[in-house]
Amino acid sequence: MRIRRSLLDLDDLDADELAYVFGRTAAFEQNAPGRLLEGTACVNVFFEQSTRTFTSFNLAELRLGADVVNLSPKDLSLATKGETLEDTAMTLGAMGVGVLVVRHPEAGFPKRIALYFDGHVINAGDGAHAHPTQALLDLYTLIEEFGQLAERTVAIVGDVAHSRVAHSTIRGLRRMGANVVLVGPEGFLPAEYAIEGVTIERDFDAILPHADAIVLLRIQRERFAEMPLSNEEYVAAYRLDKRRLKNVRADAVVMHPGPYNRGMELDDSVLEFAGWRYLKQVHHGVAIRMAVLDLLVNARR
Ligand code: ASP
Repeated sequence: MRIRRSLLDLDDLDADELAYVFGRTAAFEQNAPGRLLEGTACVNVFFEQSTRTFTSFNLAELRLGADVVNLSPKDLSLATKGETLEDTAMTLGAMGVGVLVVRHPEAGFPKRIALYFDGHVINAGDGAHAHPTQALLDLYTLIEEFGQLAERTVAIVGDVAHSRVAHSTIRGLRRMGANVVLVGPEGFLPAEYAIEGVTIERDFDAILPHADAIVLLRIQRERFAEMPLSNEEYVAAYRLDKRRLKNVRADAVVMHPGPYNRGMELDDSVLEFAGWRYLKQVHHGVAIRMAVLDLLVNARR
């Protein structure tokens, strides 16, 4: 099936493929990989801003020896000349493009392309839906820290409802058997999020001493019209700061997919906390993306 060639969300990877990606990530971080994508053309199209994901996909492709083209959405014929998405996808495929890395504000956009593109589509974030490579690097960072994630308590805090990172990472954590605790106010965390393996906690302070890992989220203001609570209320209830850090376990880790907003979901003391792992996450992001590219292009023919 054509769509099977792509990575649209974490569920597209079976257990063996997840293990493959993590194994390759470790190997690529130890020794520079060879030109495993020599002759493969990768096109990156980002319809939304990106610093980390865009740069790390570029680095990953370049380090694997791929031919790399970065398309700016405003330059696509799709934007102004009436070409349909389907025709754009077929056109790029006919040119021999092997991999399309796509970020778009609309949930499901990468899937629509994958139905027509004769190559591999990698979802680099679609609306509030999914962000599988971010989830992979989050999982990798946690596994490096704890080994097995079964029975570990991971708290994901803040605007869960609008976070594609949270949606993909929750899936991954459940698969790894972690105990997922979602923390946030009703407006950012509807009760339906409580499913098997996932609990909801409205009181951030109550979970602090029990969490092995705390994943902070940015408030995704671009995805909703009105804040369900004031900034001050949010900060008072959900910011990780100097006062709250006192109740975090000394061996716990704190993560954030970035970009983080100082003063909102965290204060500067978090950046000095021994367990702050944000830069580790960013670092792993390059090798994770190399591993995903290698899986799709070389292992899943
Ligand atoms: N960088 C992540 C994303 O693209 C998280 C964020 O923007 O807050 O979803």
